[in-house]
Amino acid sequence: MSIEKITIIGAGTMGAGIAQICSENEFKTTLFDKFSDSLDTGFEKINNFWDKGIAKGKTTQEQKELWSSRLKVSTNFVDSVSDADLVIEAVPENINLKIEIFRELDKSTKESCILATNTSSLSITRIANSTKNPKRVIGMHFFNPVPLMKLIEIIKHEDTPDGVLELAKNIVSMLKKTAIIVKDSPGFATSRLGVVLGNEAIKMLAEGVASASDIDNAMNLGYRHPMGPLELSDLVGLDVRRDILIGLAEATGDSSYLPHPLLEKLVNQGDLGKKTGKGIYYWKNGVKSDRTDL
Ligand code: NAD
Repeated sequence: MSIEKITIIGAGTMGAGIAQICSENEFKTTLFDKFSDSLDTGFEKINNFWDKGIAKGKTTQEQKELWSSRLKVSTNFVDSVSDADLVIEAVPENINLKIEIFRELDKSTKESCILATNTSSLSITRIANSTKNPKRVIGMHFFNPVPLMKLIEIIKHEDTPDGVLELAKNIVSMLKKTAIIVKDSPGFATSRLGVVLGNEAIKMLAEGVASASDIDNAMNLGYRHPMGPLELSDLVGLDVRRDILIGLAEATGDSSYLPHPLLEKLVNQGDLGKKTGKGIYYWKNGVKSDRTDL
């Protein structure tokens, strides 16, 4: 089976980026969002990215026109998905919302259509089992910012057929990314390792082991991580990381995954990281500085 048409559900941070790279790589692409203002914002983000590329001489106006000609935006669900060969869902990380969308996809897509979810941490098995044919459901976890990040984590569940896995791998290489294959397990490979390192770094900060920037430099300069675990937590959002840790603790019954009290405290006081200007660091115009009040 060949994949020609891809529909993305949700035009937010991830969905817009996924739609952008699909249209850049020869796929007929539809970006769907339930909310027209979110769709406008997502579409504008893609156009801005392309315009910046032209201004920097990295791409041309002709290329932008070609990519744009493959990209459609829509607020009509059935229209968007009925002739898709692959649907990639990128709505907020809420299991009930995702299940609701997959039930709708079950009714409105072709039987051969592959249904992928971009969830960072939710059970693929649970999402798949909400459809009549779980075999066509797979996890395709992209990273932010999608146009720049090279990895796509493919998550297979117990009933994923080899053919569906192979198809997902082919899509990843057509998108010029690298795939890793991971079994459906809490936090997959990336989120599990990422949040555990971040939580331990927060624990060290609370214990006064070192300052935030020295903890980050430990991994940054000592282990060649491009970004320290505390800075990364601020970029991803402390609320997002807290929720993933809680999800891991609930799914495994292992309380060592629970968020450190300092992480809970920051989230409860609305210090969510870069997006709120305050998290483990202070953030102003994209530049971080140390906090002295933690
Ligand atoms: P976001 O909040 O930026 O975007 C979600 C979009 O979904 C919004 O545009 C919203 O209008 C739309 N939406 C809400 N309800 C909808 C519905 N019923 N139908 C259609 N569209 C609907 O979220 P995001 O950061 O892009 O995250 C999306 C998914 O990707 C989540 O599962 C998240 O865990 C995962 N993810 C996020 C990141 C990240 O860094 N942000 C990285 C990897 C994976």
